[in-house]
Amino acid sequence: MIRSITKQKPFEEVLELLSGLDRIFLAGCGTCTTLCRTGGMPEVLEMASKLGEKGKIVTGQMVIPVACDELTHEAVEDHKQAFSEAEAVLMMSCAYGVQTMSKQVGLPAIPALDTLFVGKEMGLGRFDEVCTQCGSCVLGLTGGICPVTACHKGLLNGPCGGTNNGKCEIDSDKDCAWTLIYLKLKEQGKLDLMRKYHDLRNHNVEPKPGKIRLPLE
Ligand code: SF4
Ligand code: SF4
Repeated sequence: MIRSITKQKPFEEVLELLSGLDRIFLAGCGTCTTLCRTGGMPEVLEMASKLGEKGKIVTGQMVIPVACDELTHEAVEDHKQAFSEAEAVLMMSCAYGVQTMSKQVGLPAIPALDTLFVGKEMGLGRFDEVCTQCGSCVLGLTGGICPVTACHKGLLNGPCGGTNNGKCEIDSDKDCAWTLIYLKLKEQGKLDLMRKYHDLRNHNVEPKPGKIRLPLE
């Protein structure tokens, strides 16, 4: 399953973001950050206790089932009183949840987490980025392995000179993406694709912010 992968900001940074704000509502997310253990109920309770030690008043707390969902509105309604007493909402969700909350309440929504990447759960507690959504997919030419994401240098035209026995020169625990691509293409009888030259990546495939409008009737 694809998840929004996060890490907690250093507590000092959270305090800095909350400077001048004394009454805080705390909200986690029941999906991605619960899974990453960055914003589920145990982390929300721990944050509440740490904020309390620093003299902050936690007016209320909750874990929204899906913080990036528009139904966040209902969760806010359920805690109306606690929100009305707060000066800010500290969000222990990914950035999608922060932005959703920001639209729902008239209070500043402050992120307690950094959103790192959209990743796939590869096993218990293990999340790997598999696609950076570059907008110009080359998987059809690289044996289904993404060099943009899996190679530390994002190389499109074969390996750098640092490949070492199939491991990456930047992270020796990590397989070299281009070695994996080579082995996969060999297995598929498509090694000729290794000789295909890829043009420089077009970084302007979709102007930011990305927007798709389907021509619906
Ligand atoms: S090339 Fe890689 S980053 Fe780009 S769309 Fe394909 S899988 Fe995603
Ligand atoms: S060793 Fe392989 S994965 Fe690492 S930077 Fe070079 S080509 Fe990319």
